[in-house]
Amino acid sequence: MSAVSDLADLRQGTIAVLERIIAAQPPQAGRLACAVIHLRNIRKVRGLLGDQGAAAYRRAVRLQLEAIPPDPSLVIDGNDDHIILMLPGVMNAGHAELVAQKIERVLRQANDVDAQQAGTEFTLGMALFPDHAEDPAQLLARAELALVAADGADTHWALFDHGLFNELSHSWQFDRELREAIQNNSFTMYYQPQVGLRDGRLHGVEALIRWEHPERGMIQPSLFIPLAERTGLISRLTDGVLRQVMQDVKALQAMAIPSISINLSAMDLEDPELATRVSHQLAIWAVPSRAITFEITESALLEGSETTRRQLEQLHEMGCGLSIDDFGTGYSSLANFRTIPASEIKIDGSFIADLANDQVNRDIVAIALELGRRFGLKTVAEGVETESSARALIELGCEIGQGYYFARPLRLSHLLEWRETWSGRLPDSGGQDTGESP
Ligand code: C2E
Ligand code: CA
Ligand code: CA
Repeated sequence: MSAVSDLADLRQGTIAVLERIIAAQPPQAGRLACAVIHLRNIRKVRGLLGDQGAAAYRRAVRLQLEAIPPDPSLVIDGNDDHIILMLPGVMNAGHAELVAQKIERVLRQANDVDAQQAGTEFTLGMALFPDHAEDPAQLLARAELALVAADGADTHWALFDHGLFNELSHSWQFDRELREAIQNNSFTMYYQPQVGLRDGRLHGVEALIRWEHPERGMIQPSLFIPLAERTGLISRLTDGVLRQVMQDVKALQAMAIPSISINLSAMDLEDPELATRVSHQLAIWAVPSRAITFEITESALLEGSETTRRQLEQLHEMGCGLSIDDFGTGYSSLANFRTIPASEIKIDGSFIADLANDQVNRDIVAIALELGRRFGLKTVAEGVETESSARALIELGCEIGQGYYFARPLRLSHLLEWRETWSGRLPDSGGQDTGESP
């Protein structure tokens, strides 16, 4: 939930107090700082000490904070886990920082007394009048904006500035547009061929999402997938991906493409309903589960909880393949292979570039391939850009290659054209190398 909606109902009262102080403050007395404090540990305290304990903790914090401004009435309760402080006489941004440090000290003390186990967890957003705002309502709104920024800061606190305002309002618009795009299904799936390195046959495709934005043009997933994860929209996005891929399966199978890989994000795997959602979609579109492989990054596997493991187990039991994506970047321990029902490893593209000339990468890839063979996993290399990399992979015995050398990710109609012209010819080991992708 956003800090802003949390604060909505106390806004009017707070603005009235701000108005009163601004009117009473002589112009030479410096700035008026408005500080919004989010007590992030209130829920934890409630869990540990119950409702009464949480209320007592909150009162203790408030009492300590009341010692900071010249008058205790300048501390105002927000709902549940917010407290607002008004501080007349702040001279400049440096002074505001000192005030923030003081608030932090006070919060730590309050915490030591009343909720030792809870840990100090708070964020603080601050804005100054008249520097950052023209009126009390704007002052409060800008302190709240700074609070949002403080969420991502190392220091627990942020002072409003105009650059921050532009950045956040931009990303909020992005957020709204992403919601609309999900609603209107403005995404297109592209498919990148995966080629068998022994026989040149088309082994499968990886489905990669694209957002065709009416004004911004094509937006790459690395820009909006993290945003979808942060804003909790990822599961709806993934449902859209599943639906579209399932719809395309018939056309893909008509091109004699046996396997389709779909990317899942770490957050998808934390949904205990994920496997059920997948099985539902498979049933609706009559898609055999063995046609689908899910790609999960190595880091998602390492950091995943018990829920992630259970979902992987269920997807495996349903008959779907599981591929460990970006393999080699997450420092998996060998033990992981025994606990995860993977069917494939996908060696990260960073090891594949310049494979022919880089002995270290060659060694790493050779070890990954050996690991794959020992555990009976399919081996895929991604980011195959040049003929020399493709040839090196063939020499090393990698089974499947994917990358610009063979084809870029293509929309379905272009994939069909590519399919018709793909000769299946692989570079032979002794051939001439241009070092260029075709
Ligand atoms: P990824 O799963 O590692 O996908 C491989 C990325 O490498 C893709 O970028 C692909 O277009 C790009 N690529 C393919 N061949 C080459 C090559 O030869 N050289 C180079 N330099 N790059 C190559 P893309 O499509 O921009 O996707 C980026 C990431 O976004 C993906 O990384 C994946 O993590 C995520 N993503 C893409 N589609 C989806 C989706 O439907 N759902 C989820 N959750 N994530 C997705
Ligand atoms: Ca992938
Ligand atoms: Ca990858």
